[in-house]
Amino acid sequence: MGYLYLEEKDFAAFVDALIAAKRVVGPTAKRNKFVYEQLASADELRLDFDVTILPPKKVFFPPAQDIVRFGEQAIEGCIAPVDTVLLGVHFYDVKGIDMTDYLFRERKEDWNYLAQREATTVVASNIQAISPRAFWDSVGAEVKPKGHDAFLTKLAGGCVLETLTPKGEALAAFGAFRDATADEINAAQQTNDSVMGQCSEKLGYTSEAIAAKVRDSFDNEELWDELAMDCFSCGSCNTVCPTCYCFDVKDAWNLNQVSGSRTRYWDACLTREFAAVTMAGGDKENFRERHQSRFRHRFMRKTAYLNEKLGGPACTGCGRCSQACTVNIADPVRVITAIMEVGS
Ligand code: SF4
Ligand code: SF4
Repeated sequence: MGYLYLEEKDFAAFVDALIAAKRVVGPTAKRNKFVYEQLASADELRLDFDVTILPPKKVFFPPAQDIVRFGEQAIEGCIAPVDTVLLGVHFYDVKGIDMTDYLFRERKEDWNYLAQREATTVVASNIQAISPRAFWDSVGAEVKPKGHDAFLTKLAGGCVLETLTPKGEALAAFGAFRDATADEINAAQQTNDSVMGQCSEKLGYTSEAIAAKVRDSFDNEELWDELAMDCFSCGSCNTVCPTCYCFDVKDAWNLNQVSGSRTRYWDACLTREFAAVTMAGGDKENFRERHQSRFRHRFMRKTAYLNEKLGGPACTGCGRCSQACTVNIADPVRVITAIMEVGS
């Protein structure tokens, strides 16, 4: 593993050679926003993106994914991984992928996620533009990005590719790379260091202090009522989050009524139906009936409940929830700061 350099004039040819050999997914422009999509040519790749609407987890955990198809006589699984390069992932989303990797392995390995994850080469890239709602430089500093195969840093005149795994090293065969010089490696390091401290939103507390205070605030109903007052339970803050991983499973029958499929869909704990169950005997119960309870649950999960197993908060500071919330209340900086200031 090491550091390679590619001249800017050779970059498009590198990406096009990858596209000719594999499925390549990367950030591309959609009106005035960015999305991860399969690339048809190097021209579509926009490594100057600030943040994408949905996180890259959708490559391994699609919003709707068939798990099995069934017929009168047989049931077949739907796992069909595709050799893929995910090209252009900011470090905060690398953290998010590492967290979902852990969560989908944690109890029973979930091969509906892991098969595509293992078939994917993840290439991180440096941050060239900062999303206005991001705060990745002041949250979860103890969680180091890991699990990616290579890291691409754009410099004036070319780019440095740090290869971290055999899959990352294999990328070199697709472009006119040479070994990077010490100056180029230093320049890449400085480029990545220079974005830290540049986010306009900031959390001024350690993750440990936040986790303790948020847990202590659990029974402060007045506070949660106020924080969640305008929430209309749309679930958008869940949908865009790189570390949300809940799903629902539904069966769909074909018209012949003997065959069909079982599909899993992203679920959202902010929606009213999420914790609603029908019990034996037909009685209905909703374990988080009030929108304030659902809002609180989300913040408990992001700041406290998962910290031990993930080594830090289940929030990467991407700022997507802040952007997605129509009533502008989902911003973790707003919520956490308000909680931290209670009684101070
Ligand atoms: S809670 Fe919001 S800021 Fe944190 S990772 Fe999820 S979407 Fe990003
Ligand atoms: S906090 Fe905002 S985005 Fe999340 S469910 Fe409530 S209204 Fe929707």
